[in-house]
Amino acid sequence: MKSVPRRMEFRGEPPCKICSYEQNYSKTEAFCITCNITMCSICTTKHKSLFTNDNHVVLSAKYGIRCQIHTKEYISIYCNTCNVPICVVCSMIKCSDHVRSSL
Ligand SMILES: [Zn+2]
Ligand SMILES: [Zn+2]
Ligand SMILES: [Zn+2]
Ligand SMILES: [Zn+2]
Repeated sequence: MKSVPRRMEFRGEPPCKICSYEQNYSKTEAFCITCNITMCSICTTKHKSLFTNDNHVVLSAKYGIRCQIHTKEYISIYCNTCNVPICVVCSMIKCSDHVRSSL
């Protein structure tokens, strides 16, 4: 019998996406805007060594992943039209008629 890992409790912050492919739920420490993935500290280090050419914009999630425009808001939505992660305020204002999905 295969044990199915329970979904990590959501506290406004999705778990590490790279680890979740292997059914692990690691705490998100950073977010790569270029890849649109959340990463734990181990994956962040790996990711940075993989992409040494600074093409990737990696945000630290030390205090949650916050919107760069609305610094009080956490990133919780992904806009498929703009291809960027956004906050609820962005979602209501600039992306109100865009195709969005929750992160
Ligand atoms: Zn990346
Ligand atoms: Zn990870
Ligand atoms: Zn915003
Ligand atoms: Zn948008």
